[in-house]
Amino acid sequence: MKKFIAIVCVVIAMATLLTACGKFTCDLCQQEKSGKKTKITVDGETGVFCSDCKDAAEALAALADAYL
Ligand SMILES: [Zn+2]
Repeated sequence: MKKFIAIVCVVIAMATLLTACGKFTCDLCQQEKSGKKTKITVDGETGVFCSDCKDAAEALAALADAYL
């Protein structure tokens, strides 16, 4: 059982490392994030946004679509 727990720990650590490799800089808050990223295209330019800024970015994109 101890061996099983050790294997689970290694798998989780590897998964965490793989996720950490996917770091990106959010175009709205300018912070380096490693979580889920969302690409939104506004006026022909594609921005990358973190999950925190996704909603705001989508609202801005909708505004830009309506007024540009
Ligand atoms: Zn952000």
